[in-house]
Amino acid sequence: MILHCAIPIPQQRLFDYLPPYGVKPELLQPGMRLKLPVGGKRVVIGFLIRISDHSEWPKDQLKRALQVLDDQPLWQPALWQTLLWASQYYHHSLGDVLHSALPLKLRKGGDEPLETSGYRATNLGFSCDAKLLSRSARQQKALALLKEHPQGLTLAFLKSAGLDTQVLRQLQQKELIEEIAIARFNGIDEAAPQQTLREAHLSLSPQQANACEKILAARGQFHCFCLDGITGSGKTEVYLQLIEALQIDHWQTLVLVPEITLTPQTIRRFKARFRFPIALFHSELSDNEKADTWTQAKLGHARVIIGTRSSVFMPLKNPGLIIIDEEHDGAFKQQDGFQYSARDLALMRAHKEQLPIILGSATPSLETLHNCQLGKYTHLILDQRAGGSQQSRYKVIDTRNQKLQFGLSDTVINKIRETLKAQQQVMVFLNRRGYAPMLMCHHCGYHLPCPHCDAKLTVHKKQQQLRCHHCGYQEPLPSKCPQCQHEDLQYMGQGTEKLETHLQALFPGFDVLRFDRDVLRHKQQLEQQLMRIEQGQPLLLVGTQMLSKGHHFPKVTLVVIVDADAGLFSLDFRASEHLAQLITQVGGRAGRADLPGEVWLQSRQPQHPVLMTLLQKGYPAFAQMTLLERQSAALPPYSYLALLRAEAVQDEPVLEFLNQAMMQAKNLQQTLFPTAPHTVSAQGPVPAPMARRAGYKRYQVLFQSQHRSALHKLLDQLTPHLESDPRHRKLRWSLDVDPIELY
Ligand code: ADP
Ligand code: ZN
Repeated sequence: MILHCAIPIPQQRLFDYLPPYGVKPELLQPGMRLKLPVGGKRVVIGFLIRISDHSEWPKDQLKRALQVLDDQPLWQPALWQTLLWASQYYHHSLGDVLHSALPLKLRKGGDEPLETSGYRATNLGFSCDAKLLSRSARQQKALALLKEHPQGLTLAFLKSAGLDTQVLRQLQQKELIEEIAIARFNGIDEAAPQQTLREAHLSLSPQQANACEKILAARGQFHCFCLDGITGSGKTEVYLQLIEALQIDHWQTLVLVPEITLTPQTIRRFKARFRFPIALFHSELSDNEKADTWTQAKLGHARVIIGTRSSVFMPLKNPGLIIIDEEHDGAFKQQDGFQYSARDLALMRAHKEQLPIILGSATPSLETLHNCQLGKYTHLILDQRAGGSQQSRYKVIDTRNQKLQFGLSDTVINKIRETLKAQQQVMVFLNRRGYAPMLMCHHCGYHLPCPHCDAKLTVHKKQQQLRCHHCGYQEPLPSKCPQCQHEDLQYMGQGTEKLETHLQALFPGFDVLRFDRDVLRHKQQLEQQLMRIEQGQPLLLVGTQMLSKGHHFPKVTLVVIVDADAGLFSLDFRASEHLAQLITQVGGRAGRADLPGEVWLQSRQPQHPVLMTLLQKGYPAFAQMTLLERQSAALPPYSYLALLRAEAVQDEPVLEFLNQAMMQAKNLQQTLFPTAPHTVSAQGPVPAPMARRAGYKRYQVLFQSQHRSALHKLLDQLTPHLESDPRHRKLRWSLDVDPIELY
C-alpha cells in the first residue's frame, strides 16, 4: 500500500510513503493529515491525497509515514474537489494550497477543535433568586438567558448577545453557571427559526423582490447571479433577506468582503438584524479565534460567516449560499504565494457544492459583465436608490491653466466652504498617502530614491521620516541634500497628510479627519472616526481609496476628487477600469434622500473618452465601451493570461531562467499544437514595470491565449520543468494565473 502525499513545499508533484506502522489501512482516507519524515531529521505535516499499490520509486527507498493525525478527512468532498482543482488551475503546490485552507493551529498539526466552549446554568443558578443579582443588570441578563436554554449556550452566542467573558466569569465564581464543552453534533438550537430576527426587515422594492425571488428559486443548485446595484440601491438588504429565508432549513451563508475592518457599518447591520451570532473571519483575529470560527462553521453552528479572501476555504456543514460583495475589488486576489482569486475559487466551489452564488457590486468587473452577456450569469439590476434618495451628480473642473491653491481650484474651495456652511460634510479624495510623494533638492535637482527599489521615497512629515511604500524602507528626514549638501530640500507634490494640513488652514473651525493606512492602523481608530462622522457635525474627510469602500455617509453631500487623471495613462490595461470603479464608488458614498450628493472631479483631461463616457453616460456605458476595446485588442476577458515572474539579487540567473522557460514553451508549443504553434503566445523576458524592488531585480514572461484550455495545457507541461530547474535555488519565481496587475 502506497500513500501519495502532498507536502507544503513549492512542488506540485506528490510524494510517496509507506503507511505508518500499526495503522489499519482501511482507516486511511484522502484529506487526512500525516506526519511525514523529509530530508535529515525534519518532519512535516502533509496530506494524504491518494492511495494505490504502486510507486514509481523502488520500495526500499520509500520512507514510512510516522503518524496519522485525523480520524476522518478534514474536508467534505465538494470542498476537497475544489481544493484539488485550485492546485491544478493555479499550477501551485497542492500541499501549499491545502495548508492555506487551514487555520494555523491545524497546519501545525494541532487537533481539530471539534468542541467549542459554552456555559450553562447550575442547579444553584436555576434556584437562585434574580434579586440577588440586582446590582448587575448584565449578570442578571446572562443568567436569565442561560435559564431559558437549560442545555447551555456557546460562548459565541453569549458574546453576540452583548455579554463578555468577565460577566460570565463573575457568575461562574458565584457558582451560578458553569463552563461546558459543547461537542460536535450536539446541535444546540440557539435560536429557533421563528425568532431569528432581532429587528423587522424592510419591505423590498420590486427590483429587490425580483432579485430575492430569482436567487431563492436557485436554492440547491449552482447558479451565478451578478447583483449589479448602484450604491445605496439596497444590495445589503437583499443579502439580509436571503439569509433570513435560508434559516428555515438551517442553511449557512458565506459572505466574502474585500476588507472587514473597513466596513464595521455593514457588520453592524448584520448583527442588528439577526439574533444568532455572525461569525467573522479575518486577519485581525487571533489564531484561536480563527480556529474557533472554522469549527463553528464546520459544525453548522455559524449560520452566517463574513470574512475576507481566505474565508473561501471555510468548511460548511449545510452550505446554502455564497455572496461575494464588491466582487470587482482587487483584494479578492492573493498577490503572493498561492496567488488565487477568491471570487473565481468561490465560483468553482459553488459549482461543486451545487449552490447559488451572488457577485454583488455597484461597478461589476468587466469579466463579470462579459459573463452576463454570454448568458453564463444572470444579471440582476438595481438601478434605483432605496428609500427614495437620488443619485449623485458629477461635475468636472478643468484644471488646465488654473491657479491651484494646495492642489485645489478656487471653484472647489468655494464649493467646500458653502457645503460646510450649510452644515453638511465634505469628502476629499486623493489616492496618495504621506505628506509629499517626493523630496527634491532645489539646488541640484536630486530627488531621494529608495536605496532598494526603483521608486522615490515618500515624505512623512509628522514622523520626520522618508519611507518607501514598496519595500518598507525608512530613514530620518534629512536636513540637507545628500548629493550637493545644500539645505534647500523641497517637498514635491502632495499626499493626504499635506492635504489634511492645508484643509485645516483653509477651513479653520472645522474638523478634518484623515482616512488612510497611516492613521487608521487599528479597528478602534476607524470606529472612532466613523462615530464622529455619524454624529453629523459639518466636517471634512480626507483620504485614500479607503474612503471608497462600503461606507455609508449620509451627511456627506460633496465629494471632491483632487486628481482624476491618475490612471488614465497607465501602461496597465486595467487602469481605466479601476479608475472608473474608484470614481463611481467614491461618488456613491454621497447624499441621501433629502440631501442629494455632488461629485466634483479635477482633471487636466476633461475630454478624455473614459471620463466623458463615465460621467455623461454612467458606468454601464463605460463598461460596454471598454469591453469593445478589449475585444479588438484581444485582451481579457477575450483572452487568458498567465504571468511568470522571477527575481534575484543579480540579473543573470533571472534572465537565464526565463530564457530557458521561453525555449521550453516554444518546444512544447510545437508538440502540443503542431498545426497552430502560436496558439499560446509568450512574450519576454522583459523587466517588470518596477524593475528593482527590495533589492531584487525583477523580470517577467507573459503567456497569452484566446483559449483557456490551450494556455493551461502548456502550463501543465511547463511547470514541472520550472520546478526542477536547478537555477531556481538562486532566485524566486512564481506563476500568476489570471493576473490582475501586470507587475
Ligand atoms: P447597498 O448595499 O446597495 O449600498 P443598502 O442595502 O446599504 O444598499 O441600502 C442603502 C440604504 O437604503 C440603507 O440605509 C438601507 O437601510 C436602505 N434600504 C434598503 N432597502 C430598502 C427598502 N426596501 N426600503 C427602504 N429602505 C431601504
Ligand atoms: Zn523600497
